[in-house]
Amino acid sequence: MTDLVVVGTGLFGLTVAERMAEQGRKVLMIDRRDHLGGNAYSETDPATGIEVHRYGAHLFHTSNERVWEYVNRFTAFTSYVHRVYTTHRGEVFPMPINLGTINQFFRSAHGPDAARALVREQAAELEGRRPANLDEQGVSLIGRPLYEAFIQGYTAKQWQTDPRELPASIISRLPVRYTYDNRYFNDTHEGLPTGGYTAWLERMADHPNIEVRLSTDFFDDAQPVNKKAVVGQVPVVYTGPVDRYFDDAEGSLSWRTLDFEREVLPVGDFQGTPVMNYADTEVPYTRILEFRHFHPEREYTSDKTVIVREYSRFAERGDEPYYPVNTPADRERLKRYRELMAGERDVHFGGRLGTYQYLDMHMAIGSALSMVDNQLTS
Ligand code: FAD
Ligand code: UDP
Repeated sequence: MTDLVVVGTGLFGLTVAERMAEQGRKVLMIDRRDHLGGNAYSETDPATGIEVHRYGAHLFHTSNERVWEYVNRFTAFTSYVHRVYTTHRGEVFPMPINLGTINQFFRSAHGPDAARALVREQAAELEGRRPANLDEQGVSLIGRPLYEAFIQGYTAKQWQTDPRELPASIISRLPVRYTYDNRYFNDTHEGLPTGGYTAWLERMADHPNIEVRLSTDFFDDAQPVNKKAVVGQVPVVYTGPVDRYFDDAEGSLSWRTLDFEREVLPVGDFQGTPVMNYADTEVPYTRILEFRHFHPEREYTSDKTVIVREYSRFAERGDEPYYPVNTPADRERLKRYRELMAGERDVHFGGRLGTYQYLDMHMAIGSALSMVDNQLTS
């Protein structure tokens, strides 16, 4: 007897399954991929032994104490602190934009107040208006020249959408600091799972009340567990794409996908840092990841390294949907999908794909914990 079917074994689905299993419910999880863990999954590169995050670099960070306590039940975290650099016109600058970036860019030696005054002057075109989109948000945060150098080209490559059509919230994630602090995240807790992501994710599913079936697509009627067979019979938590669930009835929501080009190089260290962004449009990729640097505490081979170049493009049908684009047209469609969702009996939509929202791992876990409290066990 199954008490709950969870579609998708990403962090949202795993959190729901683990919590429900712990309360004595029998949970059946399915995933269309041949591994569990969703996009946080990682694997050991066979040529070098280096841990590679298959779906792009995943850095865990949170200020949510409940989430931090919860994840620490399954893994310890290293003391890794994320820092990013960006290359613009052949010169390397620290990201996110901080006093170091500003002074290097303007060849100046401003203190915090002078730098603030300079940026305010360079953002004057907004005349105190509230930024309505990514373009205006960028200019209002850092002024036009810094925006054009570090944000405009990168964002054009990442989103291939007019920045005036993109929500301001995309770059509100990036702090701007008038100190030399170049930590990428502001959160209280940060680190990487000591034993790797996959050990963490597998531990969450390692429960006598959880069964996991991989390579099982919810929309494949030939599978014993599929939408037609299950909905209305057993409660379902669905974490796949919301538009796909309704067979695109209200039209497709737009997503961005990424192509990851992995290469093993015969050098011990390629770029000296985990993530190098490329701000200029002349370089086709957005960034290069070098995975050995995520774990300086590990004794990796010193004569080889793994790098991944990341390219971004619009997702076509069949591509992995990674980032919701969220244009005004998407938001209209989403509203109609929300009405359809409300009409689905005992189906709970969650996670990044199921709600069409950019969620970091800690947000996916936090919202799964809330779903368990408010919808599944109340
Ligand atoms: P997912 O991990 O996407 O899991 C959904 C699962 O559902 C997938 O395994 C999928 O195969 C399965 N599924 C879909 N459709 C079906 C179907 N029809 N049948 C069966 N199974 C199905 N977060 C951070 O905190 N820090 C980071 O640095 C970070 N970097 C990221 C970088 C990239 C490139 C991406 C894409 C995301 C990043 N994230 C990061 C976000 C993180 O991946 C998500 O928060 C997390 O994966 C959310 O989990 P989820 O369960 O909602 O979705
Ligand atoms: N961004 C940018 N330049 C950078 C880094 C980020 O313009 O060097 C913008 C870009 O629009 C990106 C957004 O800020 O999509 C959020 O960046 P973040 O690194 O948080 O997100 P990611 O794209 O890695 O998920």
